[in-house]
Amino acid sequence: MGIAAYLARRGRGSPDAKLCRTPAETGTNDKMKLLVYNNLDSGVFCVFAADSTDFTAKPGNLCHPWLKIPLLHGQNDFRQTPAIKTRAGHQTPPLALFSTERYAMTENLHVVVHYAELGLKGKNRPFFERQLAKNIRAVLTELGPVQTKRFWGRLLVTIPASTPFAEVRKRLQPLFGMAYFAPVRVVSQAWDDIQEAVLEQARLLLDPDTSFRVKAHRGDKRFPLISPEIGRQLGAAIVAMTGSPVDLQSPAVTIYVNIQVEHAYIFAEKIPGAGGLPVGVTGRVMGLLSGGIDSPVAAHLMLKRGCKVDFVHFHALRSAEEAANSKIVELARHVITPQGIPAQVHLVPYHPFQMRLLTNESRYELVIFRRFMARVAQDLARQHHAQAIVTGDNLGQVASQTLENLVAVEEAVEMPIFRPLLCFDKQEIIGLAQQLGTFDLSVQPYKDCCSIVDRHPATRVRADQLTEIESAIDFPQLIADSLAETTTVRV
Ligand code: ATP
Ligand code: MG
Repeated sequence: MGIAAYLARRGRGSPDAKLCRTPAETGTNDKMKLLVYNNLDSGVFCVFAADSTDFTAKPGNLCHPWLKIPLLHGQNDFRQTPAIKTRAGHQTPPLALFSTERYAMTENLHVVVHYAELGLKGKNRPFFERQLAKNIRAVLTELGPVQTKRFWGRLLVTIPASTPFAEVRKRLQPLFGMAYFAPVRVVSQAWDDIQEAVLEQARLLLDPDTSFRVKAHRGDKRFPLISPEIGRQLGAAIVAMTGSPVDLQSPAVTIYVNIQVEHAYIFAEKIPGAGGLPVGVTGRVMGLLSGGIDSPVAAHLMLKRGCKVDFVHFHALRSAEEAANSKIVELARHVITPQGIPAQVHLVPYHPFQMRLLTNESRYELVIFRRFMARVAQDLARQHHAQAIVTGDNLGQVASQTLENLVAVEEAVEMPIFRPLLCFDKQEIIGLAQQLGTFDLSVQPYKDCCSIVDRHPATRVRADQLTEIESAIDFPQLIADSLAETTTVRV
């Protein structure tokens, strides 16, 4: 019987099974060849081992190290063997070699994504789901062709199996909008298939000392067994195979079986997601980014609530080019890239402001500059369809951040200014920056323009004095001049 006919007889899909790896790619030595056939989207595959001298697949060479399909002619049962011997006595690498990258041998790697708050969003839900799917594709696209589709109230992500799962995990973990995700085996609803997939997980994860439970969910109520019964039967099959103890309360390993219309999916590892909402679902804001610790964290928190964030930075560097190569752009990139949505960084030179500000009241400089930054940010926000300004301000942290000063800045613009860090302690913000990975970059030396203005700013500004000083400045012209010299970088 040929390979294709064998696969067809197993009832696992198209008889024209596809060769998905060349022998060289399987990593075997030249004495031994492996042909790996993937026969389905379900990821079921067969391995045919043969000696290089006799490369025709023979029934005796047929094996299935992952699903342990009993051999066709029954000469051998690879269930017990750590490696596969060919007729000439060459051995395949031990099966563990395949198991190190657990999903590597299926043609497709499937990941099920459970939304964080999406379930709560009623009519907006399809829009939120589409955005999450788009963001997932964006962060994974470098790894190969990615597909996403809705899958019983979840998202199913399909990626070529050649992708190392560790890389997928690294990219999905920081992406907002997910409660958790799990690499899954998708199989048919046939009991044999479900059991094979469950036993496969058990074989990989359990030994006689590791406790486990099977948690079944029957989404398709037509399935003949009720959930507890599914759990019981599969649990018994695992005990018979591995001898592992069952523990329903606090097992070391839980194997999840979710039976849905047409398919079942099986997984054993729930990887926590970053929570929040997918970036792009709640609107767009303009973040004031300094080189310090706070503002990148503030932008990150807005991203977490689903906002797209663009940035404005005021620099006192010699040229736009120097600004574009500064750590500011790097900081913005670090915050933005994990979300898969590009952003713009507007680099505004400080010198037009510096030249206009002619006052003896240097204690007011900082507040006037802050008000100016807010005005420019508001203009840029309007140009780029952003609805609010975001800063890393924190109440009382430094002399410039008194309640009076924050209010004075607020009064310079019509647009709302959001301050997600207003009520955090400095230590908490440092903790967040460390988690986010921006802390080290933030503390690197940088010539911030706020260090040029007076270091002893007024903590209480008088509105009449402010108005008097500002009335000497032609703000519309100053803003226009500043924007004319602004450079925009995409990250
Ligand atoms: P950060 O760590 O974010 O710099 P900070 O504690 O040093 O905050 P300030 O320097 O007083 O506080 O700045 C308060 C906020 O004003 C910053 O979080 C940022 O949003 C904005 N800001 C300050 N300087 C600049 C700048 N040069 N360009 C753009 N925004 C700035
Ligand atoms: Mg600062």
